[in-house]
Order: sequence, then C-alpha cells, then structure tokens
Amino acid sequence: MGKPERMKSIRQLITEDGKPKIVVLSALSGSTNALLSISESLIQKNTAEASQKAQELKAHYEQFISELYQSSQGLSNGKAIVEKEFNFINQLIATQHFGTKQEKEMVALGELLSTQIFEAYLQEEGVNSVLLPALDFMVIDADNEPILAKIEENIGQILSKNTGKDIYITQGFICRNPAGEVDNLKRGGSDYTASLIGGAISAEEVQIWTDIDGMHNNDPRIVKNTFPIRELSFEEAAELAYFGAKILHPSTITPAKMKGVPVRLKNTMEPSAYGTLISDKTTDTEIKAIAAKDNITAIYIHSTRMLNAYGFLKRVFEVFEKYKTPVDMITTSEVSVSVTIDQTTHLNDILRELREFAELEDPDMNQVIICIVGNFYADKEGIAIKVLDAMRNIPIRMISYGASEHNISLLVDAGHKNDALNALNEGLF
Ligand code: ASP
Ligand code: MG
Repeated sequence: MGKPERMKSIRQLITEDGKPKIVVLSALSGSTNALLSISESLIQKNTAEASQKAQELKAHYEQFISELYQSSQGLSNGKAIVEKEFNFINQLIATQHFGTKQEKEMVALGELLSTQIFEAYLQEEGVNSVLLPALDFMVIDADNEPILAKIEENIGQILSKNTGKDIYITQGFICRNPAGEVDNLKRGGSDYTASLIGGAISAEEVQIWTDIDGMHNNDPRIVKNTFPIRELSFEEAAELAYFGAKILHPSTITPAKMKGVPVRLKNTMEPSAYGTLISDKTTDTEIKAIAAKDNITAIYIHSTRMLNAYGFLKRVFEVFEKYKTPVDMITTSEVSVSVTIDQTTHLNDILRELREFAELEDPDMNQVIICIVGNFYADKEGIAIKVLDAMRNIPIRMISYGASEHNISLLVDAGHKNDALNALNEGLF
C-alpha cells in the first residue's frame, strides 16, 4: 500500500463478496525501509539524523491520513494513532542503548501503523471489523521458526472471543520471540503471516495481493516475453519461492501446504486477472518456470582419505549444522563433494573446520543458482538434453538433477546469469 487510494480500493476488495476474512496488512510502501534507516542512524549514534528521518516519515503519514479519512472524527482518530506511534519512535530514539531489541521494536511500527490506520478507516466506513494484534498470537521459537501449534491455539482463542465480525485485520511480519520481545519473520514476512494464519484456521483460500500479476515463468526484469503461470503445485511454488521469484517469501507456502489450503497470488492493479493459483494439484506441463538465486557461495571439498571413505558426508554436514548454515545445492563424485550456501556469516569457521579433515579449493563467491521448475518424472526422457542444449554456450559449475521431480538446478558465475536466463527462455518455452 503506497497511496490512500490503494487503501480505499483494498477496502472495496475485501468487502465486495461479503465473505468473512482475516486481512493481513504489511507496512505502507517504503515504511519498513525508512524505519530501518532510522535504526541505522541510531546504531551509528547519530541521533540528530534519526530524528530528522523520523520527522520526514511522520510528515508522510500525516499527509497520508489527511487524504484517507473523509470525516473530522476519522481524521482525528488517524491523527491520534500517528501521534501515539511517533511518540514511541521518539522514545526509541532517546534510549541510551539502541540495540537489536529496539531495532525490532522500531521496524514493527510499519505494520502497527498501517493496521491501525486501516482499521480506523474501516470504522469510518461503517465496516463491521476488528483489529486482532499479531503480537497476541504470532510466536516464534529460539530458531526464529513460527510455532504452528501455539499460533493455532492462540488464534482459535482470540477468534472465539471476537465472533460475528465481517473483517478481521491483523499485522503481517511481526511476532513475539521466546523472551516475549517484539520480533519479526524477516523481510517480506507478511505473506508468511498470511499463510500461517490460513493454515491455522484451515481457511478456504489464502490470497496474496501484490502489484504484479502472479508468478512469472522467468524474471521479467531480465528476460523479455515472460508470462504469468496460472497454476502451480505446492512443490513447484516452494522451489520457485526459494529461488528468488521475488513475489513470495520463501517459507510462505509451507503452512498452507501442510493444511492443503490453496494460495492465490493476485494483482491489486488488476483485481480481475486470474493470477497464480498454488494448490495440491499438479498439472502435466513439463517445464513451468525458471528462477535464479543470487549471492551463492560454492565450496569444493575433497576427501583426503579417498576411496570408500564412509562417514565423510556426515562429517561435512555436521560442520554446516554446527554453524546453522543451510546447504542449498550438493553434487558429489567418488572422492569429492561440492556444496553451495547463501549465508556466509560463518564461512571462515566452516572452512577452518572442514580443513581439519578435508582438502578444500578456494570457494567461489558471487555464484548464481539457476533453477528450472516443472514435472520431470524419472521415466520422462529428453529433459536434461533440452536444458543443457539451451545452456550450450554458458559455462556451468554444478548440475543437480534427480533430487526432486520438480527441480533441475545449475550453478553459474554471476557474470553469466542474464545470458543463462535468456538462453533457457529461448530453449525451453
Ligand atoms: N513490511 C515488511 C517488509 O517490508 C514485511 C512485508 O512487507 O511483507 O519486509
Ligand atoms: Mg510484501
């Protein structure tokens, strides 16, 4: 939501069919970045700069509400919300020790503001709605993973105390951690919230509204002639979401998939367009989409004990486990294994520990995983050749085929990414 008009059209969209809904809102466009930028100034101990940025942001909200509300009552409600939350921002700016905890409180204000402003607008419009604070039910564990059973229980209780409403509003993205502090589900996490709630209440459908028309078969910023994909299975969507199809937070699909709740991606700019439907149905289309994931590091590991060494892979993976670093792609030969990671925080520790029992080549930074998603059942012939033929002029570092029936992954240097996406688009569609 960038503009007040958008908020108004969302009110239209959610009340049109008369069905009850839980509406998960993200922050107003740009707000999360602005709040992070204020935090950044505070971490650098530049209070004056932080105050300046906060003032600019407040002016933005004042403008926004002045265009949103029609009645003087509505406007004064809106003003009270903005005053209250910016007072809190000023308190955060004034704290002696601004650390991670305060930063998370700061960044949560985007969703806290947008939902209260929207709820006040629905009240002004006479919609039968209520705001359910996400901080009362959305909880994560010590590994930052949502605790599904607890969320389900909490929501059940809250809904049973708030029956008979047409529209329930809540905040996306924000949650509480085991210490009871305000936390979040990482950037873009509002989609994840929606899917968690959809799963928890076994919703008829989860809809994710953005300003693009569903998932495309390739990256429209790099490749011409892409098109929206109408239907995807949960498995295909999960592969694509992880591999940088920017429209979905990578974890979004999981909770909906667990409960078999379909997820529909819709476009606010074109509400009647079909969008993309993600469900447990698989269609027969062989190759559905291509996606890329940037900032990948490849690590090449050779066993020093050579042939027939069992337990080698276990030791390798224990190192990654110890540093809580997920491994994305793996290829193996008799004596070597290559893996890729996208979190390099502990890279040096990982390399040091691997060197205790293996020989390593220098890791390659700045790699890209290109992933081809579709239905590649084991007895289908000719798919690998199509993919490799399309990639004929592009150097490939790693190939992974056969792990899932829905994914072929190729690792290329970042410098070849655009060529690879275009060549595959030519060759496969
Ligand atoms: N407001 C959060 C962000 O910008 C969450 C979201 O938009 O989904 O990352
Ligand atoms: Mg978003």
